[in-house]
Amino acid sequence: MVCKECGRDSYVIVIVPCGKGSGPYVMELCMKCAIRSGKYCVSHEVAHIGYSDGTTACIICVHDIVAEKMSSADGYLERITDNIDGDDLESLDDWLDMVGPIYGGRPRALLSALAARSLRTGVTVDEVTERIISARSAAEILPDYW
Ligand SMILES: [Zn+2]
Ligand SMILES: [Zn+2]
Repeated sequence: MVCKECGRDSYVIVIVPCGKGSGPYVMELCMKCAIRSGKYCVSHEVAHIGYSDGTTACIICVHDIVAEKMSSADGYLERITDNIDGDDLESLDDWLDMVGPIYGGRPRALLSALAARSLRTGVTVDEVTERIISARSAAEILPDYW
C-alpha cells in the first residue's frame, strides 16, 4: 500500500485523522510518516482520534489521565460549575446529563473531556480548567454541535 505522504510502498499502513471541514478526514500513512505526523501514539501503538476542529488525541492517553486524576474529578466539576453561569452553565449541565451515564457519572464525563482537550491543545488539565474559568464558558470542551 502506498503512503499518502512519502509515496513509498509500505507493508504497514496507519490510518490517521487529518484536516477538518469537508474532508478528506483520514490519511493512509506508513509508520514512519504516521509517527512524524504526531497523530500516532508511540507508547500505546494506536492512531489518534480526530476532532472536527482538526485536533487529535490518543484515546488511551485520555483514559490514563482520567485514571490518574479520578480522585480530583469532583473537584474539577465543582470548580467549573461554580465559575460559570447562565446559558453557559445550562449548556454544560445538559451535556453532562446526556453523557454522564455513558462515562459512569458527570464528574468522570467532565474529566474525560478536560483530559482530551488538554491533549488536543498541548496543555495540562489544570490549564484547560483555568481557561474555562477565565472564559466563564466550557464551550471549548463541548462538541461543536452542542
Ligand atoms: Zn510515508
Ligand atoms: Zn497514547
